[in-house]
Amino acid sequence: MKDIFKYIPGFRTDKKWKKVIAIIYYIFCLFMLLAGVGAFLILASIPFIGFAILSLIKHRNKAVVLTLVAGIIMFSIGVKVQPTTSENTTASSIKEVAASKVTPEVKTKTPEEIKKEADAKAKVDAEVKIKAEASEKATAAQKIKDVAAAEAKVKADAEAKIKLQANGELKVHYIDVGQADSILVQQGNSSMLIDAGNNGDAQTIKGYLDSQGVKALDVVIGTHVHEDHIGSMDYIINSFKVGKVFFPKQTSTTNTFKDFVSSVKNKGLNLIVPPVGSTFKIGDATVTVLAPNGSGYEDPNDYSIVVKVTYGTTSFLLTGDAEADSESQMLSKGLDLSATVLKIGHHGSKSSTGQSFLDKVNPKYAVISVGKGNSFT
Ligand SMILES: [Zn+2]
Repeated sequence: MKDIFKYIPGFRTDKKWKKVIAIIYYIFCLFMLLAGVGAFLILASIPFIGFAILSLIKHRNKAVVLTLVAGIIMFSIGVKVQPTTSENTTASSIKEVAASKVTPEVKTKTPEEIKKEADAKAKVDAEVKIKAEASEKATAAQKIKDVAAAEAKVKADAEAKIKLQANGELKVHYIDVGQADSILVQQGNSSMLIDAGNNGDAQTIKGYLDSQGVKALDVVIGTHVHEDHIGSMDYIINSFKVGKVFFPKQTSTTNTFKDFVSSVKNKGLNLIVPPVGSTFKIGDATVTVLAPNGSGYEDPNDYSIVVKVTYGTTSFLLTGDAEADSESQMLSKGLDLSATVLKIGHHGSKSSTGQSFLDKVNPKYAVISVGKGNSFT
């Protein structure tokens, strides 16, 4: 039995450290059985052949010929068996694929290198797997996010629709007060009255507001001092609950104007001069103040408060009695004058609604508040 060790490299010596290295090497070779019998035989044959040749050359020791032959046989069988082992390797296991790829390199690389490479390959494979899993997770998360966003959009759209349905539509009433102005704007539960006809129109306007279910006026606008605009305003302010009263920085000595101012004061309110560019809400409709843009006008009509009421894609431009001067100021200021419906300025008088102004407004519809058979031009 002891004689057999004479032919195995590493055990022919008495030196212990050589034996330890040999044992480690042969244990490693046994591990290579996992990669295949061929790999084991090739690896194990290397010291047999190597040391046998060295021994022959150096010491002319003929006894090692047996070792050399054994090594060559092991190597030959190993090489022959190797491809078969590879063929038997299934692709299902990453570990086996990695091992079969490594084995052909056995002849040129040390076992440590092979092991390192196998480990590295396994590590890379594991990393790729982790990356693929992470990417899958990210895709899934994105999908969940997309679905959530889509659901949120549907919900928001539905809510917007419900809101629109609940608040109903914007109503703009051009009340028939003959050669005068009185316009009722309603949206949701809010109402605004712009002008209140002549002194004799009190019952007409009150009756009309009652018929429309108006209980309170959130905003009242007197466009300017003339009687055909604030004539019945005192009566209306006395008859309804009123929020705010807007009026331009303008005054007059007429009884009509005095009555109007008194009614406002008696309600504990003040006349508010709305700045150009300011906006306020009537329900969900937005009202934007566009004029007057100056003071010291020659014609009192140019002091008229001009507003645009916007609701969704529809808008109404209400110009009072604004004339050419005010129109040109609105144009030169570059205000957004475009509107679906234009109330023709100053009851259709030739001094208002100039061509360039009309071009800028570009309305689909126009309303004119004018008396039948009136004497104005
Ligand atoms: Zn007028």
